[in-house]
Amino acid sequence: MRMFNTFTRRVEELKLGKTVKIYVCGITAYDYSHIGHARTAVFFDTLRRFLEFKGHEVIYVQNFTDVDDKIVRRAVEEGKTQKEIAERFIAEYFKDMEALNVRRADYHPKVTDHIPDIISAIQKLIEKGYAYEVDGNVYFHVPAFKRYGELSGMSLEELNMHRIEPDPRKKDVKDFALWKSAKEEDVKAKAVFESPWGLGRPGWHIECSVMSAKYLGVPFDIHGGGRDLVFPHHENERAQSYALFGVEPVRYWIHNDFVTIRGEKMSKSLGNIVPIRTAVEKYGGEVLRLFLLTAHYRSPLDYSERALETAKKSYDSLKNSLILLDMEIAYLKTFGEKRSPANVSVDEFFDGFVRALEDDMNTPKALAVLHEFSRFVNKNVYSMSLNELEHCFDTFRKLCWILGIFEKYERIPVLSEDDAELIKEREVARKERNFEKADAIRNKFRERGIQLIDTPEGTRWRTV
Ligand SMILES: [Zn+2]
Repeated sequence: MRMFNTFTRRVEELKLGKTVKIYVCGITAYDYSHIGHARTAVFFDTLRRFLEFKGHEVIYVQNFTDVDDKIVRRAVEEGKTQKEIAERFIAEYFKDMEALNVRRADYHPKVTDHIPDIISAIQKLIEKGYAYEVDGNVYFHVPAFKRYGELSGMSLEELNMHRIEPDPRKKDVKDFALWKSAKEEDVKAKAVFESPWGLGRPGWHIECSVMSAKYLGVPFDIHGGGRDLVFPHHENERAQSYALFGVEPVRYWIHNDFVTIRGEKMSKSLGNIVPIRTAVEKYGGEVLRLFLLTAHYRSPLDYSERALETAKKSYDSLKNSLILLDMEIAYLKTFGEKRSPANVSVDEFFDGFVRALEDDMNTPKALAVLHEFSRFVNKNVYSMSLNELEHCFDTFRKLCWILGIFEKYERIPVLSEDDAELIKEREVARKERNFEKADAIRNKFRERGIQLIDTPEGTRWRTV
């Protein structure tokens, strides 16, 4: 399978073993997560599913940043501790992910559970000459790491310009914090930890170097995240890990693009965010998930009511095909009706779908193939044999599983002989224009949660 590696700036063949180790940067838990976060989570969840479908064992790690300036600020504002704020929004994040069918990672490490690991990593960086302490703060010294800038591809001039807050304590303008000495706010929010440099807390980037190495070892296969993390977060993370372990820490850096709204990046600072749950309440989690897969992961995706309505239609038509297949299977099984094979094959859809994802996770292409499959189903459902229908249903569902939709789909029941008899009686009643009797039978089924559907091919049913 081929994917775009941010580090090499080209699409390359992924060389993966049986086990694939993935680390994806998670949220900073200080507020509800928005659609931009959902895009990253859904994309990497889909990649994980696809790799599993291809027979890999995936070890998936996604961290939570549970101590940080924004968390501390909110804690102080609300008179709470950093831990209370972080725990609250981590729980909310999991609720959102459940609605989107994003599976839990194998590990969800939190910064505050790894303070001793982080301290010992910082000590090692100081010993190796990559970091230094000033007044209880520890900085990574960027000029000590000659390969800095290679991931983001930024030149020295660009890097030098990029520093927002000049800090006279830093030896170089590019140096960044590994450990920050405690401020009054931090103490108030109980966001401080003992260290050889006094009370303080870790800088943002070091957590991912430490936790990825702890759970996956170095090097590991795939490091993911949103495009905005390439610089400085991932550039710094790579520098720290390389300095610590002496090897390139990540085989493939993979980044997804933004969600935009009227062409602008969705972000808290621009004030144009849509929380995940707002969209979930309005359209449903699976529709939102499908929407997030309608654009290629390296293209921006514009969120609008219209785009979501379109995704809803797409979702409904796929679901309709799944139900059509299931209804026909339940019908043939209930009535024991034999049908000769239509000699049709769905291999082209299966292969086309897989090929699209193997080609740099082209989800829009895969979705287009799935819709062709859906049209094929609608056209052929009444002519396929039971075996063909079951194969078709399983294939369709497997592909949908990779995309993470129809997970909670419940199969349509095969009915008893008595029920089959009732359905036949009703068909006779209808022919005799005895609608009263026909309706009475229909209502009987309805009371049991079964909706009878009259098709040109006879009666079918589904659960309601
Ligand atoms: Zn990270």
